[in-house]
Amino acid sequence: MQLSGNKVRKLEFLMADAVAHGADCVITVGGIQSNHCRATAVAAKYLNLDCYLILRTSKLLVEKDPGLVGNLLVERLVGAHIDLVSKEEYGKIGSVALADLLKKKLLEEGRKPYVIPVGGSNSLGTWGYIEAIRELEQQVQQSTEFKFDDIVVACGSGGTIAGFALGSRLSSLKAKAKGLGYAMNTSEELKFVADVAAATGVILDPVYSGKATYGMLKDMAANPAKWKGRKVLFVHTGGLLGLYDKADQLSSLAGSWRRMELEESVPRKDGTGKMF
Ligand SMILES: *Cc1c(COP(=O)(O)O)cnc(C)c1O
Repeated sequence: MQLSGNKVRKLEFLMADAVAHGADCVITVGGIQSNHCRATAVAAKYLNLDCYLILRTSKLLVEKDPGLVGNLLVERLVGAHIDLVSKEEYGKIGSVALADLLKKKLLEEGRKPYVIPVGGSNSLGTWGYIEAIRELEQQVQQSTEFKFDDIVVACGSGGTIAGFALGSRLSSLKAKAKGLGYAMNTSEELKFVADVAAATGVILDPVYSGKATYGMLKDMAANPAKWKGRKVLFVHTGGLLGLYDKADQLSSLAGSWRRMELEESVPRKDGTGKMF
């Protein structure tokens, strides 16, 4: 649960490298609801490494307790150290220099930090998805039913798609589904996420898989000839926890509830539920 999503495949390689370098802590960077930062915090704890997260938030929230919604709850439960920066500071200084600043501080304290880039997307992390495409191709070979012509996957920092592209001979299909911008949603996108959940039980996330699926279906409707007859493997990259951050926007789309109607004279039947 706590490692869920696509980042764990990159971390498999990055964390091994951190351990091989004798690190005693890792530093990484991301948005306030970064799935990558949450997975890194958990993986670090499993390996008994300290974790330092630099999280980007709005100017209005940067001086305040970031709370416990979604990924933050997991990060804070596993004891990650959180440094907040504003979007403006992040834009001006950049993730590399920010991580470097923290690395210098930790080195001065006698620590041995290992820096993992945004999203875990560097040449080493990308091996996670070179491995993933190998596993998929093995599954195709072993199955008579499982076949695909195209892979569609949401792209953020790009490590996932780079691994798929490097490890396969698939040509790439590109579509823009970014919408309003990182971690911002239109009401149509969230309505789409709610509709997919209600129709299929599949929970898409608001930042990546929700937008990618929305964009894919829109493209299918606009350019049917391009997709006709092709078998598409859509890779669900995770991200459930990030959806909690959108609870307010989703409240009017979520299922209903009611107070159970009980007549006063329903007699008790003791079964298994004797706890109360
Ligand atoms: C990070 C992330 C992606 C994008 O993966 P990249 O390798 O960064 O491009 C897609 N979906 C989810 C849920 C993610 O957390």
